[in-house]
Amino acid sequence: MRDKALSEDEVLAILNEMRGRDYCYDRFFSTMCTQPHPIAVRAHNLFLETNLGDPGLFPGVTEIEQRVVKMMGELLGCPDVEGYVSTGGTESNIQAIRAARNISPVKRGNIVVPESAHFSFDKIGNLICLEVRKAELDSDLKVDLSSVEDLVDERTVALVGIAGTTEFGQVDPIDGLAEIARERGIHLHVDAAFGGFVLPFLEGDWKWDFQVQGVSSITIDPHKMGLSTIPAGGLLFRSRKDLNSLETETHYLTKARQASLTGTRSGAAAAATYAVMLHLGRKGFTEMVGHCMDLTRYLLEGAEDIGVEPVIDPVMNVVALQVESPVETREELTRRGWHVSMTREPRRALRLILMPHVTYESIDLFLRDLDEVLSR
Ligand code: PLP
Repeated sequence: MRDKALSEDEVLAILNEMRGRDYCYDRFFSTMCTQPHPIAVRAHNLFLETNLGDPGLFPGVTEIEQRVVKMMGELLGCPDVEGYVSTGGTESNIQAIRAARNISPVKRGNIVVPESAHFSFDKIGNLICLEVRKAELDSDLKVDLSSVEDLVDERTVALVGIAGTTEFGQVDPIDGLAEIARERGIHLHVDAAFGGFVLPFLEGDWKWDFQVQGVSSITIDPHKMGLSTIPAGGLLFRSRKDLNSLETETHYLTKARQASLTGTRSGAAAAATYAVMLHLGRKGFTEMVGHCMDLTRYLLEGAEDIGVEPVIDPVMNVVALQVESPVETREELTRRGWHVSMTREPRRALRLILMPHVTYESIDLFLRDLDEVLSR
């Protein structure tokens, strides 16, 4: 740290210079985050100094968190849900599996996740010493139920299904997984970090949430398609006993027990999430998701015009485009200022997320560059 203090103007000049080095959302096709809704920013600033880790000092934002949990539970078919606002998908996944492990009598157990699972599950294996078994995918890139059956054994403490895979936006057969989980009496966790704020607003008969008997917990992230500020995650349990299994005693705080992974945690993102949900309602979310799906179709049509096909027909606003040399293509697109990501081997493809910040104009410009890069 410097000895001599800098003035506010000097500090802000440094910050502005650094902020200027960050890239802008208008050329981001690679991220599942987006610019927060303006009302989320206002709510965030209003609750900036609140700490949900010491709820007795902040009863207002604590009540907001409970309302957010209830609203998300209602959205996902279980108004009596239990849970909390976490820092994101990784924390929610860790905590869901930790609860399953804590409840199970099995020591040094395993979990069975789809091959398409987010890398947070690898962290979980390492953190809480569980073997992570990866089930194969079928030709639609959904988890193959017979592969899951082959991997499950008496040491399995949880199954995981994904509603909106990170790379392809695919939805696993959650009802089939629930059947296996019910038969064996094990926890089924659904990772809907991305799909949680998409699927409820799409037409279609998705059977993936708490309406499916056997689904024990769900991850849903407001800081992705919920248009909230970062860091806002949601962890929801059907049963109170799962949440209780995460609790530890707190010696010096206003509440005797705490279930969250982090201690001190901002109330700002919970308030931001609440504000967006109140302000948009189901109607607003349906319009926003509908717009993202229109952008998705627009991208697909334009891609087809230049001879590029998706790996699967997109279910939601996540597209994987098959190109001959994805690594080199991505590098050249990056040189041209586009931020796209890639899916993993053995299905390497360009991965694009059509978030609300994407515009028709940026899709046109992107496709023009993609066409040029592919024609070289
Ligand atoms: N689960 C899924 C399906 C995801 O797509 C992601 C991130 O993209 C995560 C979990 C992790 O979320 P976070 O980065 O908020 O920890």
